[in-house]
Amino acid sequence: MQPFDYVAADSVEKAVKILIDNSPSARPVAGATDVLNDIRRGLVEPRMLVDISGIAELQGIEITDRGLRIGSLATHTEIIKSPLIKEHAPALADASLTVGAVQTRNMGTLGGNLVSAVPSLDGAPVLMALDALVTIAGSAGREEVALRDFFLGPRQTVLGTDRILVDMLIPKANLGKATSFAKFGLRKGQALALINVAASLHVDAATGRAAQTRIALGAVAPKPIHASEAEAFVDANAPGEETFSEAGRIAATQASPIDDFRASAAYRIELIQVLTRRALSEAYSQATGGPEGR
Ligand SMILES: Cc1cc2nc3c(=O)[nH]c(=O)nc-3n(C[C@H](O)[C@H](O)[C@H](O)COP(=O)(O)OP(=O)(O)OC[C@H]3O[C@@H](n4cnc5c(N)ncnc54)[C@H](O)[C@@H]3O)c2cc1C
Repeated sequence: MQPFDYVAADSVEKAVKILIDNSPSARPVAGATDVLNDIRRGLVEPRMLVDISGIAELQGIEITDRGLRIGSLATHTEIIKSPLIKEHAPALADASLTVGAVQTRNMGTLGGNLVSAVPSLDGAPVLMALDALVTIAGSAGREEVALRDFFLGPRQTVLGTDRILVDMLIPKANLGKATSFAKFGLRKGQALALINVAASLHVDAATGRAAQTRIALGAVAPKPIHASEAEAFVDANAPGEETFSEAGRIAATQASPIDDFRASAAYRIELIQVLTRRALSEAYSQATGGPEGR
C-alpha cells in the first residue's frame, strides 16, 4: 500500500477544489467502509484522501418542496431509523437493512454506496424504482442527473475523479409510491446480493391497472438497470400473478448476469424471474391494501 495524504474539507466547494487540484490521484472518503478495502486490495492507489464526512451540507434527510432529499452522507442506520424514510420510502430502509452488519451500516453512507458503483450495491434499486435524481458538484457548479444515468459500469459513475455527490432526491410525485425491495444472497446476513430488485407502481383506482411501474435490478449486468420492457408489460396488462410472472421472465431477458464461483448465470436468471415476480406482487399488495400492504 502506497502512503497517502489525508485532508479534511469543511465545504463542498473546498472538497471539489482539493479534488481538482490533485486530480486524478485524490479521492473523497465518507464512511470509509469501501475505500479503505479498495486501497488495501490495490484496486485504487490514491495519493490523497479528502475527508468529506464533516461537511454539513451533505448531511440530513428532509422534505423539501420538490420531494424527499437525502444527503449523500446519510448512513444506512440513519436511513433505517428515519421517520421520513419510513413514511415516504420505506423500501429504502428495507434495502439499507440488508447492507453488511450493524457496524458497516453505522459507518457506510448511501452516497458512498452509490459512488462505489459495484454491480451488487443495494442502495440503487429502490432509488431507481422511485426515479430518484442526484445532485453533483464540480468545477462548473451544480448539476442534477437521473440516478438511472449515473452509473457507467463496474466502479464507474459520471462523477469522474473530481466531483462530489451532494444528495439524492425522491421526487414529490413518488413519495409513498408502493415499492418493494428483494435481495437474494448466499447467507441471510452479511451477504452481497446475487440479485437485488426493486419494483414500484401506482394503481389506477378506476381501472385497478398498474401504472408507472418501475423494475430496477442489481447484480444482473455491469451496472444497475431498469427492466423497461417488463415495466411496460405490467402497465399494459391486467395485474396479477400471471402478469407478474411474465414480467419476471421478460426482465430476465434484459439482464446479462455473470457466471462465477457464487452462482451460475442460469441460476441468476431464475432468481431474476422469481424476485421480480415477488417484488411486483408485494408492491401491488401494498398499493391495494392487500395482505402485504404496509
Ligand atoms: C463487511 C462489509 C459488508 C458490506 N456489505 C454490503 C452489502 O451488503 N451491500 C452493499 O451494497 N454494500 C456493502 N458493503 C459496501 C459498503 O459498506 C457500502 O457501499 C457503503 O454504503 C459505502 O459507504 P461509505 O460511506 O463507507 O463509502 P466510502 O468507503 O467512504 O467511499 C466509497 C466510494 O465512494 C466515494 N465517495 C463516497 N462518498 C462520496 C461522495 N459524496 N461524493 C463522491 N464520491 C464519494 C469514495 O471516493 C469511494 O470511491 C459492505 C462493506 C463491508 C466492509
